[in-house]
Amino acid sequence: MDFEELLEILACPVCKTPVHLDDSGKWILCDSCGRRYPIRDGIPVMLVEEAEGGE
Ligand SMILES: [Zn+2]
Repeated sequence: MDFEELLEILACPVCKTPVHLDDSGKWILCDSCGRRYPIRDGIPVMLVEEAEGGE
């Protein structure tokens, strides 16, 4: 599974909305709640505690 395929199955843990990669390639963005999740060592960290932003 490559990174693009992984992104397609990822969803925001807060609002269950599909997420996407930001322009820098360093964050996973959720347009629905405005949170962003870090990518560490190429692995998206989809944890609410690690997210920045949001309501
Ligand atoms: Zn969200």
